[in-house]
Amino acid sequence: MAAPKPPNKRRRTSAEDDAPESNLQTSNVTRSEDFWFEDGTIVLQAENTQFLVHKSVLSRHSVVFSDMFSILQPENMDDEPSVEGKPLVRVFDTAEDIDQLLRALYDRGCDPRRKMPFKVIEVMLRLGNKYDIPHFVAEATGRLHVEFPTTLSQWDVQRHWSLPRGGSFRGIKGQKGLLFDIVNLALQYEISSILPAAYFLCLRDIDAVLTGTKRDDGSEAILSSDAQRACIQGRDEILEDIPRQTFQWMDPTEYSDVCQNAAVCFRILSYSVVLLWKSGRVTASDAFSQREQMDAYLDGGGELCSVCRETSRFIHSAGRSKMWASLPSYFDLGSWKELEKEDPRKIVDG
Ligand SMILES: [Zn+2]
Repeated sequence: MAAPKPPNKRRRTSAEDDAPESNLQTSNVTRSEDFWFEDGTIVLQAENTQFLVHKSVLSRHSVVFSDMFSILQPENMDDEPSVEGKPLVRVFDTAEDIDQLLRALYDRGCDPRRKMPFKVIEVMLRLGNKYDIPHFVAEATGRLHVEFPTTLSQWDVQRHWSLPRGGSFRGIKGQKGLLFDIVNLALQYEISSILPAAYFLCLRDIDAVLTGTKRDDGSEAILSSDAQRACIQGRDEILEDIPRQTFQWMDPTEYSDVCQNAAVCFRILSYSVVLLWKSGRVTASDAFSQREQMDAYLDGGGELCSVCRETSRFIHSAGRSKMWASLPSYFDLGSWKELEKEDPRKIVDG
């Protein structure tokens, strides 16, 4: 898409000359400081803020704006509300939303290398859908797709397990409660292919899944009841599967044909596995742990023989791949294939 034409220098107006006290109807109305172009052709009013912008720019990006403006007939202008001879259109969004929308249209404030605040992603999805601005929707969903991969190789590259629980992402500015806000947004706008990885990350704090967590501003980020249900079901199913998939390598009977030092290996494995499941050290979040991380689970009383070690890597890797393939189904989301069909991704990951 071609960039919109560069805006002329903006005139910053002071509050005094904006709102003449003699005119009661406009006494509360203020002009946007950033979006009041002297060569603008249309005034948008959201709440009590007016924006003097260009019909051509808005129409170029949005069919809805284009249709809205085409109704304005020059010959009827005398009967229509206007400001300084420019037609006035009221929109029923907040002034903050319209400011954000104009910022994204005029300033192209979507540098892919800069982290985007969640609020902007939310506005781009909401207004992108409302005003039919496809590149808003594409930009917002693209950001989310990048954070929540559909392949295990991409998951491994992103090292999500090492992220702080508050949620820090590559392309979205971190803030407390971010993950829950993202999940709720994905459910609302059917960005379904991010849900398996996002739900899985929620499992790191199951108490917060049930009770919510505080955002930076003190408000509560609470998962929707659908999301809570999915997380609880997913956790139960993952915990049921984990011993025979990702942790299958700890089963001593897997090695009976190949082991070079059966006495030692059998003892290490059986002792560790008993300890592990008895102590409840395994959580659902261990489903995609790396083999190296798992050595911590082995009892320190010796080392596996080289063949068992190699075999353990193979079994572990096969197990976690199977669990990744099943990840959507744990949360009752069908298969990866179905999800990608519902919510196609442009990025190629894996
Ligand atoms: Zn062995």
